[in-house]
This record gives sequence, structure tokens and C-alpha cells, in this order.
Amino acid sequence: MRTSSPNDFDLFVIGGGSGGVRAARMAAARGARVALAESGALGGTCVNVGCIPKKLYSYAAGYAEAFEEAEGYGWHLAEAPTFNWRHLKAQRAKEIGRLNEVYLNLLNGPGVRVLRGHARFVDNAHTIEVNGERHTAQHVIVATGGRPFVPEFPGREHALVSDAMFDLEPFPKRLVVAGGGYIACEFASIFNGLGAQVTQLQRRAHVLTGFDEDLRHFVAAEMVKTGVDIRFNVQVSSIRRDGAELVLMLDRGQDLRADAVLFATGRVPNTEGLGLDAAGVQLDEKGAIRVDAQYRSSVPTVYALGDVSTRLQLTPVALAEAMVVVDALFPDPKRRAGPRQPPDYDFVPTAVFTHPNIATCGYTERAARVRFGDDKITVYCTEFKSLRHTLSGRSERTFMKLLVENDSDRVVGLHMVGADAGEIVQGFAVAMQAGATKAHFDRTIGIHPTSAEEFVTMREPSVG
Ligand code: NDP
Repeated sequence: MRTSSPNDFDLFVIGGGSGGVRAARMAAARGARVALAESGALGGTCVNVGCIPKKLYSYAAGYAEAFEEAEGYGWHLAEAPTFNWRHLKAQRAKEIGRLNEVYLNLLNGPGVRVLRGHARFVDNAHTIEVNGERHTAQHVIVATGGRPFVPEFPGREHALVSDAMFDLEPFPKRLVVAGGGYIACEFASIFNGLGAQVTQLQRRAHVLTGFDEDLRHFVAAEMVKTGVDIRFNVQVSSIRRDGAELVLMLDRGQDLRADAVLFATGRVPNTEGLGLDAAGVQLDEKGAIRVDAQYRSSVPTVYALGDVSTRLQLTPVALAEAMVVVDALFPDPKRRAGPRQPPDYDFVPTAVFTHPNIATCGYTERAARVRFGDDKITVYCTEFKSLRHTLSGRSERTFMKLLVENDSDRVVGLHMVGADAGEIVQGFAVAMQAGATKAHFDRTIGIHPTSAEEFVTMREPSVG
């Protein structure tokens, strides 16, 4: 075994996903000697089997709705449009391949040494082995992300995880989706839009645990309108193959037949096989790396960010965390504002790309009442058919909700179900981060005619 000289690198990043690549390239750009190890494709879950391909497929699904709606606007499609799944997959693969190259160039540009292989700590918190070669580093960032979790049950081997959905062959005419979270709802919407008959099974009485209650009810009703068969309070007991079909037994005793079954039942951190024991890095009860407010693990020179640590599993959060660590380790003298501080986790905006989309920023109504006091919150809600659907023939409705903390008048929660919700809420998230009050919202002139203007024209609090 060859061991290179001590302190080969100022920073060694394990994992080439969103957070890892950001940290490595920014540190290298500031003159640090940086290595990054990745055993899979560069870009991690987000680029390869997550956000990016998911959004492309969501766009693909959206065309089915657009074709239907076009008739109401005077368009006549001479023939029924047909969908070519193989073409979509090939297009996606081409774009993801391009992004992999972009990521490699982002690392090569500032001089990051990219090591293609599995990395693990050996002996101590400064020595990392990749492909039989040992490297030493002053600081290490672990950014290895997470992977899908599937519970144990008979026939578990027949369950697919989200990674496998992008290249599925053939296209499943009947898809069962187990789970009610982000991934389950998004894939149920996507495959429904692309023409599959989708049944979604959620073990609780509602989808999207943790989101605002009104929003959860509203989006489920809208998804059902689009054709997703959502069933609540039900779980899969077993799956068996019967010829070309899969037969699912449900805990209520019924059975269901499907061509494919997706389990989107959460994700777990990738902390196995990294030698974290050797480094002395402690994990929490879920197997995630325990970090402090500055993303330091129990070993002060080892940091963890993104899905492998204990915070939110969202790409932009991993990017923000990466910048905090880089600023702390390799300060940018030109940055007048000083080192970046951790993001405000209470006001992280997020979207779920269901059809229609969900987006949200700040507290849910329940969390706001707990945090500020039950009688300290004023709720504003509106629900309407958007202008687009007056002619489209679609019965889709839009929902918006604002939560205002009475003492400060600050808008502490903003929730939306409707077209382009992610695009709309991103802008409002800036205002909320800046501490915008309801009075600021009221003084803001709407852009007419848009759905977004409803957020600045809600005058009367909701009753009950
Ligand atoms: P989530 O935690 O969002 O949802 C998991 C779902 O699986 C929940 O409905 C949960 O039920 C259910 N579940 C968990 N265990 C079981 C079980 N044993 N049997 C049956 N059902 C079970 O996880 P996802 O996998 O959907 O996504 C992981 C994370 O990835 C998200 O939390 C999000 O942070 C991120 N993500 C973000 C996206 C975005 O920004 N648009 C898109 C996709 C993922 P219950 O409700 O009862 O807990």
C-alpha cells in the first residue's frame, strides 16, 4: 500500500454531490489544496436520480395537461398526441451526461484533484484511502448524501426505489406508489401525467406529513382530480410475482395488481463503509452524522453537510451549508459581509413538483401556533380557479395561505398549491427572509392578472 506524504491536502471532500462539489470547488478557488472522492457519477442524487431528471419528467407529464387544455383555447389536435417513453429517457440521459461533464469541469477548473473511487477513513480522522492509495488532509468534509429506504416485508425484492424509475423498461401501465412524502407524491403525479394508471398508498390519513394541514388536504384532492387513486391508512403487507404482474397484498386484506411498485418511504444517510468509527465521528440514532451549528462533527476537523448530516434533505440547503464551511475554513478576504452564517432553517422555501405544484416557506399553521401562541396567529386563505382554467376546461383550483404573527405583523408562513408555485414562492421567500410584515404585503402592488397577486390582496382573515 502506497501512502502519500502527510498533509497532502488542506481539504478532502468525500462525495461529489451538490454539497461536496460546491465545497471543493469554492475552497480550491480560494487557493486551498483540495481533493474530492466520488465512486459514482458526479452531481450526486440531485443531478443523476433526483431533482433534475425528476423535474424534466414533470415537464414531460405537464404536456399531457397542456394538450387537453389547448382545445379550450381554439387549438385542434388533428390526431391524439402519443408519448414516446424511450425518447424521453434518451433525452434525459443526454442532458444528465452533459451535467456530469459540467460538474467535472467545475472541479477541474480551480484545480480540485478528483479521485474516482470509494473513500474511507483509515486509522484516524486525517487519513483517507481511495482505490488502495492513502491521502492525508487537514480537514475533511463528508458529503455522501443518502439513499432510499425500503421497509422489510415479504417480497421486498420486487419493490423499486426512485433511482430506478428514470430508466424503467417497459413503461408501467399500472404503477403502485407506496408512501405519501415528497418523492411518492411527485412520482405519482409524473407517471399519472405520462399515462400510467397510478395508485398511491399512504399509511396515514393524509399525504405530506409535516406540511400545512390545509395544503395537504388541498393537494391530495387536486391530485385525485387529475386521476391519481390515493388510498389512505393502508400499507403493503407483501408482494409476489404472478407472471408479468406483481400482486400486492394490503394490510386491509385486499389485493392489487400492478406492473411496477415504487417504494418512496424515506431516505437514509450514507454513512456505512466510510470508516467513520476509525475517525471517531459519531452518528445519531438514525445513522446520520451528528453536527454542531457550524457543521462540525464530533471530530472538530471533520465536517458533514447535506443529507448525510442531521438537517434538511434539500439540495439548496446542502449548497448553503457548504459555503458556511468553506467560509469558515478558507475565508474570502474580499467578502465584505464576512463569513457566511448557517441558513435560517425556519424559512427554507421548498416545493413539491406534484401536479399542481406545492410550494411553501416558513411555519405551518400548527407549528406557528405552537411557536408563537395559539391566539397570536392570524390566518389568511384564498382558493380560486385561475384565469387559465376559465377556458381550459380543467377544474383545477389554486390555494394560498398566509400566516401572520400578530405582535410583529410578520408573515411567518406562506403556502401555495397551484401552477408554478415554486417560481412564485421563491420570490416571496426573499421578502420573508427580510422580515416582511403583512403591512408590506398590503402595500405591494399586484401584477395583474396573475395568480401570485393574490398573495398581496388577501385582506380579510379566515374564520375558523
Ligand atoms: P419523506 O420523508 O418525504 O416521505 C416518506 C414517506 O414514506 C412518508 O409518507 C412516510 O409516512 C412513508 N413511510 C415511511 N416509512 C414507511 C413505512 N415503513 N411504511 C410505509 N410508509 C412509510 O421521504 P421521501 O422519500 O419522499 O423524500 C426524502 C427527502 O428527500 C424529503 O424529505 C425531501 O427532503 C427530499 N426531497 C425533496 C424534493 C424536493 O425538494 N422537491 C423531492 C424529493 C425528495 P408518514 O407520512 O407516516 O411519515
